Amino acid sequence: MNTGLWITVSTGGLIGFLLVLSFFLKKFGGYAPGWRIRCAACNAHRPAAEAGIVRVAAMGTKHTIAGCPSCGKVGHAIIERDPGEPATIESGTNAPPQQ
Ligand SMILES: [Zn+2]
Repeated sequence: MNTGLWITVSTGGLIGFLLVLSFFLKKFGGYAPGWRIRCAACNAHRPAAEAGIVRVAAMGTKHTIAGCPSCGKVGHAIIERDPGEPATIESGTNAPPQQ
C-alpha cells in the first residue's frame, strides 16, 4: 500500500479546502451578517460582523470564547441570529467599516 502517497493527497486536499475557504472568506468578508454575539455574563450584544466573528454559526457552532467590551470579561459568548435589536455595545475603534 502506498500510505505515503495517501497522506500526501489528504494533506493536499486539506490545504486546498483551506485555500478555497479563505478565498470565500475574503470574497464575502468572512463575517456573519444577520448574526450577533452575546456575552453570557452580562447579556450585552453586538453584531458578529463588528466582533470579527467568522461565520462559525453556520457550521453549527453557536458558542465561542470572546472578550466582552461591556463587562471586560473573556469567556463564554453565544452566537445567535440577530433579531434586529440595536447593539448594546459600541462599535470598536478597530472594527472595519461594513458596506
Ligand atoms: Zn459582558
